[in-house]
Amino acid sequence: DYRGFTEVSEEEKRKLVGNVFSSVASKYDLMNDLTSVGLHRLWKDRLISKLGPFPGMKHLDVAGGTGDIAFRVLESIRGVGHKVMHDSFVETEGQTQIFICDINPNMLNIGKKRAIERGYTNSSYLHFVEGDAEALSFEGGSMDGYTIGFGIRNVTHIEKALAEAYRVLKKGGRFLCLELSHFEFPIFKELYDYYSFSIIPVMGELVAGDKESYQYLVESIRQFPKQDVFAQMIVDAGFQSVEYENLVGGVVAIHSGLKL
Ligand code: SAM
Repeated sequence: DYRGFTEVSEEEKRKLVGNVFSSVASKYDLMNDLTSVGLHRLWKDRLISKLGPFPGMKHLDVAGGTGDIAFRVLESIRGVGHKVMHDSFVETEGQTQIFICDINPNMLNIGKKRAIERGYTNSSYLHFVEGDAEALSFEGGSMDGYTIGFGIRNVTHIEKALAEAYRVLKKGGRFLCLELSHFEFPIFKELYDYYSFSIIPVMGELVAGDKESYQYLVESIRQFPKQDVFAQMIVDAGFQSVEYENLVGGVVAIHSGLKL
């Protein structure tokens, strides 16, 4: 009951709000799994393998939401750590810094909670920062890597986000973007369109009780620039060695570039 909620103590309220966040988070993840048939996990793993995380790196994951990509970066670095077992490694690992930047504090709160659940209590590795991809608070030339997963589509001025990505990277730093993109096989296109326009919003309604958001999602995919056009925008932002890889025929694409 809504009135009851306003009368509870601060402590109880914190718990209730916590529950609300975790239910949103679990639905968010469930929807990711359902709409991508679980494939988003593989796509994110592919993104990380292209990034090649290393101990001591400074990495920025923009639109990092619930921390899904940042945790993978950290786990990848730890995986390297298990193979290299000497003291100097432990020291370098200690300098690793991963920043998760998102415009929505609720998503960041879920990420923070999840970091604790996963046992990442040493917060010197992970930093949750509220901020806009179009105007980052990080110093120029400060990051070894920049990732943005299923985020740039939501940014109002893509050019500004790309310019900011370029600015914050060090020379030699890598830009990687994972995004829903344009399917390249005309024969399956109708089937894919039917899936996107008819099935995804219904799934959104049934699972998350939110049809409009998922309708918006599908529409925003359609409006996002095609792979080649987006690659050219990355070049125009100053990046070199720009390329992209289509996954599942372009349902998803990973664009990459280097700041040289
Ligand atoms: N990267 C996560 C993943 O792959 O699971 C989350 C993706 S979620 C679909 C998109 C995220 O982008 C949301 O958490 C949203 O708050 C964030 N976002 C939208 N516009 C943004 C902006 N201008 N700057 C930073 N984050 C933004």
